[in-house]
Amino acid sequence: MDTKQWVLGIDIGGTKIRSGLVDRKGSLLRMDEWEAEAHLGGKHVAERVVLLAQSYGDAEIAGIGIGTAGQVGLHGEIVSATGVMPGWAGMRLQDEVARRTGKPAAVINDVQAMALGEIYFGEGRRTHHFLCLALGTGVGGAVVCNGSLYRGAHGIAGTLGHIKIHAGGRQCHCGQKGCLEAYVSGTAISERFMELSGKQRSAAEIIESSLNGHVQAAALIDSVIEDLADGMLSLAAVFNPEKIIIAGGVTQSLGNYLPKLRRRVEEQIMHSIVNPFEISISELKDNAMILGAAALMMEK
Ligand SMILES: [Zn+2]
Repeated sequence: MDTKQWVLGIDIGGTKIRSGLVDRKGSLLRMDEWEAEAHLGGKHVAERVVLLAQSYGDAEIAGIGIGTAGQVGLHGEIVSATGVMPGWAGMRLQDEVARRTGKPAAVINDVQAMALGEIYFGEGRRTHHFLCLALGTGVGGAVVCNGSLYRGAHGIAGTLGHIKIHAGGRQCHCGQKGCLEAYVSGTAISERFMELSGKQRSAAEIIESSLNGHVQAAALIDSVIEDLADGMLSLAAVFNPEKIIIAGGVTQSLGNYLPKLRRRVEEQIMHSIVNPFEISISELKDNAMILGAAALMMEK
């Protein structure tokens, strides 16, 4: 194969930068993972992205596709990145990476990249209307209509973590109150457990405890599942999806609760308004973002 057929896909999160070479069939090779060192600021993270891209050598890469945490405008600029990385908002990442590497570059939000990964190499081969919901430090989202990613007027459609599920409820990092993210993100699960028990635990540890019969943990996760179901029902009323695909750090541990989540949705669904939809965990897992970022570059 002509090595120029490879595109470098990069997934920038708050803690890690992950990368891999992707071809048109979605093969993934030479995967790498660097610390983001986000606390050192946006310029530093951008510098690490450039160094990571350069570490792949010159000849092999036709272009660079990037999915990043934060909201990304239509020209690959970071519009906002609440609490994710200091100094990330305002970064013209697409221009910067293209200029520094001499390669064409394309930048999009990480969950929108995940949706593109699903469209080209995953669920999209069977499903044309679906939503992606990524449960991690925050809650990200993306909307796929008629087999295409919907980006809205300014590129930021699908910030599904900030739909309101409890009016006047918990404070969200976006500045609003009662958002889905303030109830079901990994951060929110930890904070809610701290309020209940006075103990500092990660979301994964709390979910594990709930499965082992810890009463406070089990009550909390039950409430998280209820909140997630409520959020999904509102989303389904708007988008009428065939499927909601969940992914992200919290999802792997929540897998055991999938039957309960499905039951909760079935119990509450109003068939006159909302049609039934499937809920599944992404088969591409974390790689969806790298694959989708590369697909964006290939589209371009
Ligand atoms: Zn919010």
